[in-house]
Amino acid sequence: MIIFKEAGSITRHLQEQQSGGVPVGFVPTMGALHAGHLSLVTTVKNDGGLSVCSIFVNPTQFNNATDFARYPITVAADIQLLENAGCDVLFLPDVAQIYPDGTILSSPYHLGYLETVLEGKYRPGHFQGVCQVVHRLLDIIQPNRLYLGSKDYQQCMVIRKLVELKQLAVEVIACPTLRETDGLAMSSRNMRLDASARQKATAIYATLMYIRQQVQPGPLDLLLQTAGHQLAAQGFEVDYVAIADARSLQLYTHWDGNTPLVALIAATIGGIRLIDNMVL
Ligand code: AMP
Repeated sequence: MIIFKEAGSITRHLQEQQSGGVPVGFVPTMGALHAGHLSLVTTVKNDGGLSVCSIFVNPTQFNNATDFARYPITVAADIQLLENAGCDVLFLPDVAQIYPDGTILSSPYHLGYLETVLEGKYRPGHFQGVCQVVHRLLDIIQPNRLYLGSKDYQQCMVIRKLVELKQLAVEVIACPTLRETDGLAMSSRNMRLDASARQKATAIYATLMYIRQQVQPGPLDLLLQTAGHQLAAQGFEVDYVAIADARSLQLYTHWDGNTPLVALIAATIGGIRLIDNMVL
């Protein structure tokens, strides 16, 4: 695996590779890697691309300074995991490489409705920061394909919107969520859960499964309420339990029985905020 720290050098290297006809598949991450991240690298390789991963804890997407300060950093272990997964290229920039003109966003991304609900509502400015960093990374890497995890369902939609808004020549591929054996979605934040919170955290998956089993055409209010109570009973502070149109993320309190649905949860246990979702 070749490691680059400078934007100019990785751009030149990848342009040479692409001119030789090798498609580039890109996996942006914030590090503290786990099997979910590595599954994206494996998918790039299975698709026959040169696999490029980035590790950059992006300050502009954290709406909470404590969350940023406490974000786990495990670079040496990450490099080893990527080597083992057969990753070809790692981009490991510092803030000056990503934001040479500073972190202030010159003009906002017009994300519309997507930014007003769920993560957009509970983490103001978060998706602007996500677009800022992904736009810059895409500019540096210029991949043919961008691989994202469906674990961050709304983020996938936001990045598709970014690609459309900026007319970027990249194909966005959303990959399945990898879970622990008890159902908990793998996440870098899981390593910050203490034993008790880790055990309770499985309630998020259990609640998503409950919603999937119980959902029926008609009103959804009672189902959403019961689901919220299940989480609260385990000690979660619930930001939202929602059911939405899987294509538009329009929130539903009544289902016509035909529209494809996704259930989404954000809740905090033991001081750690977790998100997950399930297509119903
Ligand atoms: P992060 O490092 O949390 O910014 O995540 C980097 C990428 O990995 C994003 O596209 C995530 O959606 C994806 N990802 C995170 N967790 C998982 C998981 N459990 N399964 C699959 N992909 C994931």
